[in-house]
Amino acid sequence: MANSRLISKRPLIIAGPCGAETERQVMDTCSRLAATGRVDALRAGIWKPRTSPGSFEGVGEQGLEWLAEARRMTGLPVAVEVATPQHVEKALAHDVDILWLGARTTVSPFAVQDIADCLKGDKRIVVLVKNPMNPDLGAWSGAVARLGAVLPEGNIGLIHRGFSYYGETKYRNAPMWHLVFEMRSRFPQMTMLCDPSHIAGRRELLREVAQTAADMCFDGLMIESHTSPDEALSDAAQQIMPAELDGLLSSLRWRPGSVSDPGFGKELQRLRSEIDQIDSQLLELMSRRMSVAERIGELKLEKDVAILQSSRWNEIVRRAVERGKLLGLSEVFMRAVLEAIHAESIARQDSIMNK
Ligand code: PEP
Ligand code: MN
Repeated sequence: MANSRLISKRPLIIAGPCGAETERQVMDTCSRLAATGRVDALRAGIWKPRTSPGSFEGVGEQGLEWLAEARRMTGLPVAVEVATPQHVEKALAHDVDILWLGARTTVSPFAVQDIADCLKGDKRIVVLVKNPMNPDLGAWSGAVARLGAVLPEGNIGLIHRGFSYYGETKYRNAPMWHLVFEMRSRFPQMTMLCDPSHIAGRRELLREVAQTAADMCFDGLMIESHTSPDEALSDAAQQIMPAELDGLLSSLRWRPGSVSDPGFGKELQRLRSEIDQIDSQLLELMSRRMSVAERIGELKLEKDVAILQSSRWNEIVRRAVERGKLLGLSEVFMRAVLEAIHAESIARQDSIMNK
């Protein structure tokens, strides 16, 4: 019998500290979270995979005793992160209900396989798989497949925690929501949670990320909470007190994915067919553009001229960004679209000139 009931509630809320630090902190946080009545499961990191050595690496096995106590006290299931078969064995021995694979583990096929081997045939445990650090859906799907080979499918879920990237941006980890949609279409039945804490990285941004997740039909959240966030030994900037989490959760709107209002349905249908027509025009235009690019490739081949003329390309981008602004299209969007078109044009010309 699959244990999917543990993660089948909607919205499903898993909350708790980034890391278990002391028995008192775990008990206080968990009892306050349970008292909100809004939390379905408790989380705490016991073994913390840290980017730099010398950071807080978790309290280890003793934290499992504290979590087992929190489980008895609140009646809520508990979740911990595992990265090795030893972690798995210890967690199972302490009746942990839900395991999760962190971003630094999902990225490693050896680690995931070791964990899968250790879980083989377990019908009770639920495993949530965070996305890998880098935007690699292959690694994420691969991890799910390795676990899917040994566990009932209903006992596996996904957590979107954003992707790391280089450079300054608003969030700690880029949400790249479009990649998550792709993952959802690969695993349509699988519970998909969002972890706004690790995406936002700062508590002021938690609400907006959580609401976006709700609006994108995620099945719930995994979110960090600490009784004294500023003193937290890990991820201090992104944790909030249980009472603040209560407020945040109560302010979120989980709108239904559809309604049975015939007027709404008709209007939605009309707008969608308008979109479909525009998309088909866009496709035809792009296909025409590529044919012209190929003709240019033939011309360049005839005259033996190089493919890329950066001054011409810079001019195209400059003009499109300017015109895009007048049409209400952002520069980021224009650049992304043009880069995709340019890459395809170059590939086409390259195949003509170097066949
Ligand atoms: C965590 O959940 O505390 C954690 C380490 O997350 P991630 O693997 O997403 O970085
Ligand atoms: Mn954390």
